[in-house]
Amino acid sequence: MRIGVLAAQGAFAEHIAILNKLEVEAPPVRLPSELKGVDGLIIPGGESTSISQLMLAYDLASKIRNLAKNGLPIFGTCAGMILLAKEILDSKVEPLGLMDIVVRRNAFGRQVDSFETELAIPVLGEKPFPGVFIRAPIIKQANSNVEILARLNNSTIVAARQGKLLAAAFHPELTSDLRFHKHFLNIVTEGSKFGL
Ligand code: GLN
Repeated sequence: MRIGVLAAQGAFAEHIAILNKLEVEAPPVRLPSELKGVDGLIIPGGESTSISQLMLAYDLASKIRNLAKNGLPIFGTCAGMILLAKEILDSKVEPLGLMDIVVRRNAFGRQVDSFETELAIPVLGEKPFPGVFIRAPIIKQANSNVEILARLNNSTIVAARQGKLLAAAFHPELTSDLRFHKHFLNIVTEGSKFGL
């Protein structure tokens, strides 16, 4: 299996390290040609403004949009989640517009802009998942075709899935818990079984 990791800016090295731990080939993707032959793509956390500018500059945005429409599984974490959204509140960032979610950037404000909390994520099993939030976004609204995977105690949505698109407001790549990445790899192999 080959999972490309968008390496425009941000925490791509950490995703590559986790995928390598899971014995998955993880080429960094900076140019459209590097998307050739990937079975899935991870869009990491970082600054969504910079990542979106670089995606446009290197002609990656339209290529990724087309591949996603043809069934390419994509996992977006933090800024990556922002970029997957249909709509970003109060922001000039142009998202890829692939998931039926509305997100708010930097939703926790300056005072508590980073924190760690245990999250209940039933699809990953009973054990809570370590949620590392860094200037994190939240999902303000999700369409009925979106599966909600995790909420904070105050019911704010922080992880979701729509078809083969997976989004987390936090950073599973900064923990030693591999379950979120494994879940994504399952989504990728499910798809290939049906020849997608
Ligand atoms: N605050 C960043 C943004 O709006 C996201 C932070 C992150 O990816 N850790 O793009």
